[in-house]
Formats: sequence, C-alpha cells, structure tokens
Amino acid sequence: MLKLIRVKRNKLLAASIPSLEGRVSSRRLPIMFSYIVELKNVVKVYEMGKVQVHALRGINLSIRKGEFVVILGPSGSGKTTLLNIIGGIDRPTSGEVIVNSVKITELSEEELTDFRRKNIGFVFQFFNLIPTLTAKENVMLSLELRGLPKAKIEEEALRLLSIVGLEDRANHFPSELSGGEQQRVAITRALAKDPQPLLCDEPTGELDVGSGKAVLSVLKKVNEEDKKTVILVTHNTVIGEIASRVIRLADGKIVSERFVENPMSVEELSW
Ligand code: ADP
Ligand code: MG
Repeated sequence: MLKLIRVKRNKLLAASIPSLEGRVSSRRLPIMFSYIVELKNVVKVYEMGKVQVHALRGINLSIRKGEFVVILGPSGSGKTTLLNIIGGIDRPTSGEVIVNSVKITELSEEELTDFRRKNIGFVFQFFNLIPTLTAKENVMLSLELRGLPKAKIEEEALRLLSIVGLEDRANHFPSELSGGEQQRVAITRALAKDPQPLLCDEPTGELDVGSGKAVLSVLKKVNEEDKKTVILVTHNTVIGEIASRVIRLADGKIVSERFVENPMSVEELSW
C-alpha cells in the first residue's frame, strides 16, 4: 500500500516537471517509465601514456522508448564516447549503463558483443557499407545475422529498402550510390536488426543539405511509425529542432536539457 502511494506521487511529480522525469528512480516505478537507456554517473577517462583525457565527467541520463533525442556539442565534447558507451562499443571507466533492462557494464566481453549484435543499431558518419556487396546484399547480411529464414531474407531486405525509398537501387553497389543514398542503405542495414535503440553518430556530417534532410526524414519516419528510439549526436545545432529532447554536452558534461513539445518537421530545417 505504502509503495503504491509513493509511485502515484512520483508519477504526478514527474508529469508536472518534465525535466525531472529522467531523475526519478526507475526501480520504484517499474511500470510508469520503461527506459530504454539509463546512465548513472558515467565517467570515461582515456589514458594516453602519462596524460589522462577526461572524455565524460559524470553523465546521468534516462531515455524512454520512442524518444528522438539529439545530443549537441562541439568537437571533442564527448559525443562519440557517450554514444559508443550506450551501444556497448566502449566501456566506461566507472558508472552504470543499463540498456533494454540489461546492466551492460556487468557483461563479459563475449556477452557484450552478443548484446550489441542483437540489440543496437548503429549509423556512422562514414556509412561503412561493404563495398563489394550491393545495397540489397548489405541489408541481407544484417538479416542473416539476425537469424531470419533464408527464404525470407531477400523479400525482407527489399521491404526495408522501400521504407527508405531505395527499392529501385537494390542492386547498386555503394560506389554507384550518392552519399545520401549510401547513408539510407546504412540506416536500412541497422533497421534490419530490428534494433532498440538506433544510435546515430553525425549521420549527416558528410552530406549536403538536401541529402542530409532526406536522411533525417528517414530517421523521423522510423521514430514515428516504428516507435524506434533514436539517439543522434551532432555538432549541427539546427538538427536539434526536430528532436523531442535536446541535450547539450560540453567538456564531457551535460550542460542543458530541453524537452520539445512540438518539434519542427525536417522540411522546415535549413543549414
Ligand atoms: P566528440 O565526438 O564530441 O568530438 P569524442 O567523444 O570523440 O568527442 O572525444 C572526447 C575526448 O576524448 C576528446 O578529447 C578526444 O580526444 C578524447 N578521445 C576520444 N577517443 C579517444 C581514444 N580512443 N583515446 C584517447 N582519447 C580519446
Ligand atoms: Mg564524434
């Protein structure tokens, strides 16, 4: 009984003050807030010989399913480090990381690799497609890793490519595609894992405005239609306008956080 009252009070409190939502302990609120990502006092120090680089200085962050979070910060502020730690590519020096209810900071190397492979979608600045495989084959490879039946793989790859508007480019090699098209294939490949969350590191960094907006439109679409949680890091402040939450990072710390009630559409952006 006592517990129930406490839960109700926290629900009210968090609902009235959005910025507090992330700070209310999820352990006491198992049903109210299904967090996809939770970071507790995450610190990352890189040891470079005698020099220590403090890339992250105590990050606390909770992200719910279906959010579109943009993390902004200048070069060197710790964006890539943060994203790689959320995705299990890198490990923090101290602190806790919980993704999809799994405390990934406690997993062995092998378990972490397996977790990352099954759960996390990554989209990088430089697309990283396999150059000797076509767009369709790049996506099919990802579907194979997911263990989909062979007979279904090609059909599913084409279905996913049609979501990003590239079904007519299925048989093109990466070198025959524009940068924006390659990035949309890379997003498709990430989506083939049916990931939660989808992590994007400067996904428009190499693209002109038009291609960049096409890529952002695809990310918005999968966020809205497939309820994919998107976490995107960038130095391009304009991209923050389309997010449901904007977090600013400076020198390894979160310096501000803003929930956006009515984000802009991608069409309205320009940079
Ligand atoms: P951003 O993505 O915002 O540009 P990074 O996360 O890449 O920032 O880097 C944050 C800081 O950590 C920088 O000072 C960078 O030089 C340092 N850093 C990042 N990766 C490494 C690494 N593997 N070894 C040493 N220092 C690193
Ligand atoms: Mg970076």
